[in-house]
Amino acid sequence: MTVPTEGSDNEQSSERPESLLPRSKRRRFTPLKVANQIPKRRRKEIEKALEGSSGTPKKWSRQSGPKNHAFLRKRIPPGSIRRLEFDLLSVDIGESWPIPITVVHGARPGPTITLLGAVHGNELVGPLALTYLSGPNFIGSGKAIDPDVLSGTIRIVPIVNMPGYKMKSRYMPDGRDLNRSFPGKPDSNTSYRVANRFWKEIIAGSDYVIDLHTAAVGRTNMPQIRANLAHASSNKIARSFGIEAILDNVGPKGSLRRVTNDADIACVTFEGGGPDELDPESVQVSLYGILNVLRSLRMIPGHPSRPSFRILASGSLWIRSDQGGLLDVLAPAGSFVDEGEVVATVTNPERPSESHDIISPTRGLIICSATNPFVTAGTPVGHILPVSKGVQTIRKRLDEDDCLVISGADGDPVWRDDDEVEDITVGGEWSGGNVDAEWSTNPPTDSDEEAAESDPSQ
Ligand SMILES: [Zn+2]
Repeated sequence: MTVPTEGSDNEQSSERPESLLPRSKRRRFTPLKVANQIPKRRRKEIEKALEGSSGTPKKWSRQSGPKNHAFLRKRIPPGSIRRLEFDLLSVDIGESWPIPITVVHGARPGPTITLLGAVHGNELVGPLALTYLSGPNFIGSGKAIDPDVLSGTIRIVPIVNMPGYKMKSRYMPDGRDLNRSFPGKPDSNTSYRVANRFWKEIIAGSDYVIDLHTAAVGRTNMPQIRANLAHASSNKIARSFGIEAILDNVGPKGSLRRVTNDADIACVTFEGGGPDELDPESVQVSLYGILNVLRSLRMIPGHPSRPSFRILASGSLWIRSDQGGLLDVLAPAGSFVDEGEVVATVTNPERPSESHDIISPTRGLIICSATNPFVTAGTPVGHILPVSKGVQTIRKRLDEDDCLVISGADGDPVWRDDDEVEDITVGGEWSGGNVDAEWSTNPPTDSDEEAAESDPSQ
């Protein structure tokens, strides 16, 4: 079935007659949004997955009454907050790498959600956002997360890869990528041991997981969600996060997201900003999204905020430099550009009289851009989601520099029903099989959450 996407790029008809109807009537006549550009096979997978889901995990029920939360050999009573430490390694002597965890166990029954930062040690948006979330501005009587009102349990882990964080490195001390090591093994290398303990003690008992990341070295991401939309409960929290860009793919082999989904636990990855920096917009948007998910799951009171549109993307294009030299990015991550628009220039100190323009091959949204100024011919400098429909809708959310104002970055938008959100779908496939495959890797294993798979057992 093909249902026309609302708000197409027919610019004269952006005011649809339905918008004159009162909200209650309008809602009834709004057609269900169908991802009509995601490839047919994938669309069927997603639709089938959503049909078969009740949406509520069976292991808890609001009828069952409050119970203690068993966690790390402790029993946490309903309506309480606990600050705990978890040792990444179980040893009698030597480094055990304790990490702080805040557990808020609500007075009412509900699901368990686990929030993670710094699985990659140098990605600091997660640690800062989750530190704020663990503090008195968010948790306490009368605050957004009030243990006496909360339904279910929130586990907040600001820094997973503590040794990497202390070394200002993406990696574990053995040089492996923790996010390629799940579910790990108890008797294997260091990263596999950490992954296995973390998997068994922290992740396996969760119903929902949100994993906060940034782009890897040399680039920066527009705030976005990555999720396997054919996994029903992951689809639900991806949408309820309330931001505009959702990239549909399964995580790479050994990633927390992939392994978590394989165990039928909901998991989405938030990506925003770059490593070794604190992008304030990404911190704000990630907190906004987490609170939206908690509201959507009815764990905390209030209506979740919705964006005016969502871009559901199953494919993208790379913008590359055809010259070598120094890159000057004119359209950074978040920019909406037209076909033929100059997105960056390349100059070279050896030929100061020459400047080469890098042109966008299509109209679309740049979701990631290079921050490393050194380029050679063929280096990707931007990653763009081609957009042919919903252009007018997107333009309404651009700032004076044609950058998308992400929901949550400019305060709460008006509350919207989910069926009033326009789904704009972007078809195609991820080049190389995953979202970040084309970014240069130096060293070769320096890959992002979604980048080319490395074999950590080697
Ligand atoms: Zn990462």
